[in-house]
Amino acid sequence: MKKRIAVLGATGSIGKSSLDIIDRERGFFEAVLITAHSKKDELERLKKKWPSAVCVFSGEEGGGKKLTEAIKNVQPDITINGISGAAGLEPSLAAIEAGSNIALANKETIVMAGRLALRLANEKKVKIIPVDSEHSAVFKLIEAHSLLKINELKISEIILTASGGPFRKLSLKEMENVTAKDALAHPTWKMGPKITIDSASMANKGLEIIEACILFNVPVDKIKVVIHPQSIVHSMIRLSNGVIYAQLSKPDMRHPIHDALHWPDTAPLDLDTLSFDSLTLEFEKPDAEKFPMPGIAREAAKKGGLYPCAYNAANEEAVTAFINKKIGFTDIPKITGIVLEKDWAPDYDDKETVLKADADARLEAVKIINKMA
Ligand code: NAD
Ligand code: MG
Repeated sequence: MKKRIAVLGATGSIGKSSLDIIDRERGFFEAVLITAHSKKDELERLKKKWPSAVCVFSGEEGGGKKLTEAIKNVQPDITINGISGAAGLEPSLAAIEAGSNIALANKETIVMAGRLALRLANEKKVKIIPVDSEHSAVFKLIEAHSLLKINELKISEIILTASGGPFRKLSLKEMENVTAKDALAHPTWKMGPKITIDSASMANKGLEIIEACILFNVPVDKIKVVIHPQSIVHSMIRLSNGVIYAQLSKPDMRHPIHDALHWPDTAPLDLDTLSFDSLTLEFEKPDAEKFPMPGIAREAAKKGGLYPCAYNAANEEAVTAFINKKIGFTDIPKITGIVLEKDWAPDYDDKETVLKADADARLEAVKIINKMA
């Protein structure tokens, strides 16, 4: 039986890679739902290519509701969530409600409401399989070790790799004057604009620290970050015997997408393979002074409650303001830091509380941005 797949955010970077995998592996997979929020013309083209899929354009009045209704009606076996930003939360929750497994690229789902999403998934017997390359690597490494029945060796550290982005070698002073165009020139990955800017500020690694804590149920102090400019080692785990295991491949999101869609099975994938003939792998310590966002995220993860949700919301607003030239690049962590000085402690157990905190944190961020502009 073919797996019936919903592709949310089909016109984006993750969405396109997902449809490419489904296309290559038509013997295994069938696209049953395809959604997009902008680029209506591109969605029209996808409709022609995938005539049996339900296509939903959500970028108009009532679009969000149409999207969640479609997930409920189509009942996919697995939903790949490639929507960017906080807008991905409700579709993830709708997929869980519909009993669909999730191949999760939208890390915001876990950052904003991870415990809620995992609890609901548990109730509905839904599996959340990470697609974020680092978390996919860690997920696979943990699974591989459980299979080898050596899981009595506990994980002592999760080591997330980070490319360091285009500004790794700039001074703090030089970073004050970078433009959105500079920030959009990522050295190793081709991704959507929001995550590319987050990679340049390392806000993305902050989101990923929080994502890893919640997904793998590991205290934040056990999550380490190492700069690895080539993006070949996707992440590592250190076991309690001190040994480190790593996952390596070329930086191509089709690897983690393919793996997530096949889960719990594995299957061959015919992509350009990694060669050691002329390969240099470098590692260096992240610079917390130049890149404060991972540190701010760590604090948010430690405090728990709605702090991670506020971190995400404040950063999203700051990134929009940076793209619109209202603030400078180095204002992004300043704004996020100030928003997180407020009290976001209350715990949450429902979507409404999360969405309210998201909205409140945005209001706070916008107030600060307006003062700065
Ligand atoms: P993108 O900007 O290229 O694509 C986003 C997609 O989401 C588009 O199809 C767009 O129409 C849709 N979308 C935007 N706003 C929406 C809304 N309000 N409602 C419904 N749909 C909406 O983004 P991307 O780079 O593909 O990233 C998608 C997600 O995957 C993000 O959460 C990102 O952090 C994560 N991710 C991406 C990569 C990557 O390589 N691109 C890697 C790891 C994780
Ligand atoms: Mg990542």
